[in-house]
Amino acid sequence: MEQAKLNIAVPIEISARHIHLSPEDITILFGKDYQLKRIKKLSQAEDFSAKETVEVEINEQSIKNIRVVGPAREKTQLEITLSDTYKIKTDIPIRLSGDLEGTFGFRIIGPAGVVIKEEGAIVAKRHLHISPDEAKKYGLENQKIVSVLYEGIREIIFHNVEIRIKNDFHLAVHIDVDEANACGLKTCGLGTIVM
Ligand SMILES: [Zn+2]
Repeated sequence: MEQAKLNIAVPIEISARHIHLSPEDITILFGKDYQLKRIKKLSQAEDFSAKETVEVEINEQSIKNIRVVGPAREKTQLEITLSDTYKIKTDIPIRLSGDLEGTFGFRIIGPAGVVIKEEGAIVAKRHLHISPDEAKKYGLENQKIVSVLYEGIREIIFHNVEIRIKNDFHLAVHIDVDEANACGLKTCGLGTIVM
């Protein structure tokens, strides 16, 4: 099928499994007034990889060494891959970040305490981050869907990539490790937005 290229080069970044924590949950898991230790700044907003990891239990199955991504968020959210869901024999929905209603619950085990969440476990839906200025320049609208081509020996077009516009976003597509493996992407790469 012929694809009309928009010819917008877009960085493709890979999200490994990780967890975002609320301020209350950081206190329970790590102690009062605990500050997450920043290892590496991530591309969007103020996000950073923290030194801290936690263990998570879903459906009585454990996943260890889940990286915490800071800063604290309003709601705790666990992001794992479909491969993880097969290992833990649990059907976790594919959702955009923040869309947590009716998702699976889990337990978080930290050095200072344990938190039980009623919901918040998702497999992240692939998406494109972009600032309002860049979106205007390229004619892209919030929540619209684009497709992204990644060329190479495992060439793939990712369809259903949802556009997310925010002031502190920068142009980048986020996929998870399963999707990255499917197209042979090891770290980060450059794709093209196609119609
Ligand atoms: Zn993202």
